[in-house]
Amino acid sequence: MKTPRLLDLVKPEVLSLTAYRAEEPRPDLIKLDANESPFPLPEELRRELRHALDQVAVHRYPDPKEDRLRSVLAAQLQVAPGALVLGNGSDELIQLLLLATSGPGTTILAPVPTFSMYELIARAQGLRFEGVPLGSRFKLDLPRLIETIERRDPKVIFLATPNNPTGGVLSEAEICKILAVAPGLVVVDEAYGPYAGRTMLPHLVDQERLVILSSLSKIGLAGLRIGYLVAHPALTAELEKVRLPFNLNAFSQAAAAVLLNHQEWIDAGVREVVRERARVMNHLVALPGVEAFPSAANFILFRTTPPGNDVFEAVLGQGVLVRNLGSVPGLQNCLRVTVGTKAENDRFLDALTKALR
Ligand SMILES: *Cc1c(COP(=O)(O)O)cnc(C)c1O
Repeated sequence: MKTPRLLDLVKPEVLSLTAYRAEEPRPDLIKLDANESPFPLPEELRRELRHALDQVAVHRYPDPKEDRLRSVLAAQLQVAPGALVLGNGSDELIQLLLLATSGPGTTILAPVPTFSMYELIARAQGLRFEGVPLGSRFKLDLPRLIETIERRDPKVIFLATPNNPTGGVLSEAEICKILAVAPGLVVVDEAYGPYAGRTMLPHLVDQERLVILSSLSKIGLAGLRIGYLVAHPALTAELEKVRLPFNLNAFSQAAAAVLLNHQEWIDAGVREVVRERARVMNHLVALPGVEAFPSAANFILFRTTPPGNDVFEAVLGQGVLVRNLGSVPGLQNCLRVTVGTKAENDRFLDALTKALR
């Protein structure tokens, strides 16, 4: 068979990629691998949700401008509705932003290790990706980053804060210094912002090259696939031109508009995870054979003295799924655990303790 010739039709940039790895649902396992919220919707909200979904006109296209959801989000963020672009997950907005701004020969830059989609999407679009290694204990090496920015002239810089998978945050001062030297857009990805209690949103008024990216995925609504971007309205107007029509389906729009009006439920989930994060961290730092890195997100990255693959398998064998990051450059023997409910965290800590014996 002539498979090789078929694959000649695929761009070399794509042939050289490795697909993003996401685990299939495993209801038999305690799932602490994907930085989801561990809290299902309470019954009162499910009832309200059922009612809202019941009104959806499935035979019609969804609202192309997402007016209802857009106004709920804009009011909460205290930004103009026109400053927002909504995406089918923030992954789609990363793709959209690069599609609209960056062509052949342009460089996309990010401190690494970081969220793998920046590099994957950049390379799939034929762009160059420059990863600038984080410093000791995954702290930002600002002089090195600034030096690389000046040398490589990146069109877009991605700064995830808190960073996935390391959990570290950038200070406002660091981000402002980066904005001062960056020749292009600086995208601050705040997917985990609520767990850190910080946002760069107030800086949008005087930084026109600042783009804030965020998502509902990590705060309890991962199934909806909704991300959003906040930027200067002149930029969002251009992004809107390349956004695919109806990228947000009618069910997700309706559900998010209802659930975002229950900010108290989202906030309570975040607070509980933050409390549990401190408790899990205290246990991890006391465990011999574990080096845990400080985290402001809903997960903790840790390195094990025994081979990380063995620890991962031993924890999995006890019914707990974490993320094995050992194959990522710079993350040898590193695992990432999402903070779950108290009971889930206890199961994880117990499994890890046994795995290390
Ligand atoms: C999970 C994650 C996202 C993706 O969010 P979606 O809205 O689910 O596409 C974006 N950025 C970072 C840093 C993430 O960890």
